[in-house]
Amino acid sequence: MARALSALVRGSGDPGRERTMKAVVYKGPNDVSVEEIPDAKIEHPADVLVRITSANICGSDLHMYEGRTSFETGRSFGHENLGEVVETGPAVSKVKVGDRVVLPFNIACGFCKNCERGFTNYCLTMQPEPKLAGAAYGFADMGPYQGGQAEYLRVPYGDFNCLRLGEDAAEKELDYVMLADIFPTGWHATEMAGVYPGDSVVIYGAGPVGIMAAYSATIKGAGKVMVVDRQPDRLKLVEEIGAIPVNDAEVDPVEFVKDQTMGFGADRGCECVGYQAHDPGGTEHPNMTLNRLVDSVRFVGGLGVVGVFLPQDPGAPDKLEQQGQVAFDYGNYWFKGQTMGSGQCPVKKYNRALRDLIAGGKASPSFIVSHELPLDQAAEGYKNFDSREDGWTKVVLHPAGA
Ligand code: NAD
Ligand code: ZN
Repeated sequence: MARALSALVRGSGDPGRERTMKAVVYKGPNDVSVEEIPDAKIEHPADVLVRITSANICGSDLHMYEGRTSFETGRSFGHENLGEVVETGPAVSKVKVGDRVVLPFNIACGFCKNCERGFTNYCLTMQPEPKLAGAAYGFADMGPYQGGQAEYLRVPYGDFNCLRLGEDAAEKELDYVMLADIFPTGWHATEMAGVYPGDSVVIYGAGPVGIMAAYSATIKGAGKVMVVDRQPDRLKLVEEIGAIPVNDAEVDPVEFVKDQTMGFGADRGCECVGYQAHDPGGTEHPNMTLNRLVDSVRFVGGLGVVGVFLPQDPGAPDKLEQQGQVAFDYGNYWFKGQTMGSGQCPVKKYNRALRDLIAGGKASPSFIVSHELPLDQAAEGYKNFDSREDGWTKVVLHPAGA
């Protein structure tokens, strides 16, 4: 039944014909185009096929877009995906054709040693390279999976990886699509930092992830939230959610945070920039935010580092960074007795609770969205988001023209 309906929905005339679909394809550094690629299809009995209605461009896509990862040309992008189920494999029992679902960017089996412990961000089954862990759609070193900036997406282990949405799915689509990555990731940064009600929190980076970390800290009842960046449009959003913008092109952010916290430093700190951290003039310093984080957080404070750092970065201007190393102020960190959490976010750990915050009207992360574009305009979206063009804070692509 499900298959028959999907064939109808997808208008496949000749079942033997190799169908194609439109997708955002990586052509090389700073170059993407929308091309026809082989259609996504059910490849395993537990797969689900989703017709994508919203797919965001992420800061993580930009590392790949700029050619600063091992992402292969010809592959498609897109790991922040939401859509409608159009086909289910025979082993899928919970998810049904017609369900509106949001997909964690992590692809996980649910039964390996790491998934069992909640670390769906480091799934051992879905990562084909035995020395690695963790899988994602359209992502460097995270398995061969195609991205969702496309008309259709194959979702492995659909019952496990789909989060079903309620009747308000279409009305709040821009809120719910943030559950694929940045809202849980911002939340995760504050979890790893250990944010409690009343805490003072400093966040480096006012990109979508940093702003979601600030939003999460605010929802958790933080007493004071300070966000460091130098992009005026992004700092304005920080102010709009009741956090304190800190422009590091104008003030020393470490001194600013200490002044705001009676000289102690913030109770908690989040790093939401990653290895391409740079000074306001544009010169990269991969250790810049990490060291400022340590410096601006108090003794025994907690740090959550969700900005991406890589084991190798051959394109880096910095010699240490080429080998995935950073000159980290470990002495200061140790001396202060701080603790640090790091790595990809296990989206599944948080997405259900955050969905219910949205459904209950307690959170509306869509305030971050600046642009909604049809898939055909993806190249323009990448270019402007990558250059942090004024007003381009978060781009949502609508492959189905929604
Ligand atoms: P983004 O590139 O839009 O935002 C990064 C922001 O950092 C920009 O506004 C930039 O101006 C600012 N910045 C650069 N250098 C800075 C510095 N020295 N001090 C303060 N701010 C500085 O990206 P995003 O979507 O917000 O993502 C942020 C990071 O989080 C990226 O590294 C991304 O790959 C990573 N990420 C990680 C996860 C995870 O699961 N851990 C998930 C999503 C994104
Ligand atoms: Zn992302």
